[in-house]
Amino acid sequence: MEKSLLQKAYSSEDFRMRGHQLIDELAKHLDDKLQANSPNAIHWNEPEDELRFWKEFLETGKEETLFSEITRRTTYVHHPHYIGHQVSPTAPITALTGTISSLLNNGMAVYEMGMAPSAIERVVTDMLCKQIGYNTDSRGFLTSGGTLANLTALLAARKAKLDHDVWTEGHTKPLGIMVSSEAHYCVDRAARIMGLGERGIVKIPVTAGYAMDISLLEARFEECTAKGIEIFAIIGSAPSTATGVYDDLEAIGQFAKTHQLWFHIDGAHGGAAIFSEKYRYTVAGIDQADSVVIDGHKMMMLPTITTALLMKDGANASSTFSQKADYLLTQEDHEDWYNSGKRTFECTKNMMSIHWYTMLKVYGKGIFDEFVTHLYDMGHLFGDIIEKHPDFELAVRPVSNIVCFRYTNHALDLASLNHLNAGLRRALLEEGEYYIVQTKLRGVHYLRVTVMNPFTTEAHFRKLLDKLKGWVFDYPNPKS
Ligand SMILES: *Cc1c(COP(=O)(O)O)cnc(C)c1O
Repeated sequence: MEKSLLQKAYSSEDFRMRGHQLIDELAKHLDDKLQANSPNAIHWNEPEDELRFWKEFLETGKEETLFSEITRRTTYVHHPHYIGHQVSPTAPITALTGTISSLLNNGMAVYEMGMAPSAIERVVTDMLCKQIGYNTDSRGFLTSGGTLANLTALLAARKAKLDHDVWTEGHTKPLGIMVSSEAHYCVDRAARIMGLGERGIVKIPVTAGYAMDISLLEARFEECTAKGIEIFAIIGSAPSTATGVYDDLEAIGQFAKTHQLWFHIDGAHGGAAIFSEKYRYTVAGIDQADSVVIDGHKMMMLPTITTALLMKDGANASSTFSQKADYLLTQEDHEDWYNSGKRTFECTKNMMSIHWYTMLKVYGKGIFDEFVTHLYDMGHLFGDIIEKHPDFELAVRPVSNIVCFRYTNHALDLASLNHLNAGLRRALLEEGEYYIVQTKLRGVHYLRVTVMNPFTTEAHFRKLLDKLKGWVFDYPNPKS
């Protein structure tokens, strides 16, 4: 009995048959979504209803429909009406490399468990370092997500900058980092995991334009020093997630240099602007950073999760976790760049390098310039449309492909407008034709769009605004 089940599970004939069928189905899904043949960007269901469906499906659902139900009952990132979270509509070829990674299942922690993908990872990260403007002392590695990469960068910073070794001795004095109040919440979380506590997370307020207020840095630094908090790092957002606004990286780099701090750039979303001839200026100063995070699954068309952490001085990358796991890692005198588990937080990881390399090999790095440049252009275009629209207003002029806006009307007070805009977004979600998100900035409720799909057009933007405006007349019960 057991033997026959295993034979079934490992049958290459079964794999071939299901695989061909699945690729045909996914290709059809792509056509359907990319060309907006079907109206919806999301198949919205209340969580409890969705849970009931899948519980029942396990008992009574038809196996032949399993893959198509998974594909259908979800969010369609390839639909041009998907303008919500910052996840790429994957370049389809990377679904194929994803299949290779899943099937070969090389664990990547040590060279022997992934020779091709480890060498390929070196090629990819060297390319990224070069594109940043680093010299050949730099090194990078791939890791599972921007969140983990930011934590790893801060651990490297602590190791490199302090004269005592927290990794071995634990904390002997209060430590701190400086970061914008608009930074991604994972930076705050990383600092708490590192035991810095609230006092060690020095949040710098933002300017009217939502960038870190550089004029406050000096005073805040002195305050901390007077309180006995040793600041060891400063983080710039490139850009911040909520607004898409970039911090002034050159100024932060200068400040870091003056006070000998580690300068980290959280470029999870927009670090990919290093590839855009037109928008490279947004990351001016990036080559001064000690470390940079770039998410491949955001602005580089790769599947989740594929993140690069790049460091100006490669030696820092290999000393972050100097704890020994000797059964895995033999001691080497020379640099063993090929044993990635020494430098990553995780042990086993995906063969994520092959997605990146395949894009370079098949399309060349110009594809990243085209992708980033076009999407940032579209963010600006949507910003222009909102700015000229009598019924909507921007939170801030977009500098990337992230746009925060809201319906506005002088007859309503702030609380009513907040309620109305939250209601509009809820109605949109339930209807499913467009997928957008929302954020609160200084107490004001905004609708938030990230243009992630190269096939989203001006006509799509205008139709969205018409739809929202139409619903306003039904307020306070949109769509009832
Ligand atoms: C998305 C994002 C993160 C988190 O990255 P994950 O890959 O989702 O873990 C961190 N910082 C910024 C600025 C981001 O946009």
